[in-house]
Amino acid sequence: MSKVQSVIAYIGLGSNLENPIQQVETALQELTELKDSSLLVQSSLYRTEPIGPQHQPSYINAVAALITVLDAEGLLEQLQAIELAHRRVREGERWGPRTLDLDLLMYGRATIDTPGLQVPHPEMANRAFVLIPLSEIAPIDMDIPGMGRLQDLLFSLSGEGVERLV
Ligand code: ATP
Ligand code: CA
Ligand code: CA
Repeated sequence: MSKVQSVIAYIGLGSNLENPIQQVETALQELTELKDSSLLVQSSLYRTEPIGPQHQPSYINAVAALITVLDAEGLLEQLQAIELAHRRVREGERWGPRTLDLDLLMYGRATIDTPGLQVPHPEMANRAFVLIPLSEIAPIDMDIPGMGRLQDLLFSLSGEGVERLV
């Protein structure tokens, strides 16, 4: 019998259009049904101020951990299929409003740098709306390849504009 190599992947979820809380909750449900994967744990939901263009509604963000036997590209494909099912339209300004954004934050300890996929997500270290929910569900001293320890990254960021929903 061949040995199956499973990997823990962290996914960042975000939405600021068409009932964002429901978009994120539905996406979390869809992640529980993802093929060849199981959802291990999910963070609370957070209301966060937009980055980039400011003339857009605030975001709902969360982070989830999956255990998966998909490879990183296959996992990204599945995430993009979920985005499409949420009628995400990929046009307009960068970091503009969207019904659902699913970013592959980490894929085990892998470092990937291809045109279509960079892992760890290159901006995650600068984003309180990623690191704060991540710190709820990941070991606080987790090393993020090429970026450093979660606790150190968190320490150097302001948590302003990131509000946990009860
Ligand atoms: P950001 O990546 O800064 O958070 P964004 O999420 O708004 O911005 P998108 O328009 O969702 O960017 O994605 C643009 C492209 O990024 C996607 O088509 C995908 O191929 C690529 N990409 C590269 N690395 C990743 C990753 N780790 N997770 C998700 N998409 C990625
Ligand atoms: Ca994103
Ligand atoms: Ca994205």
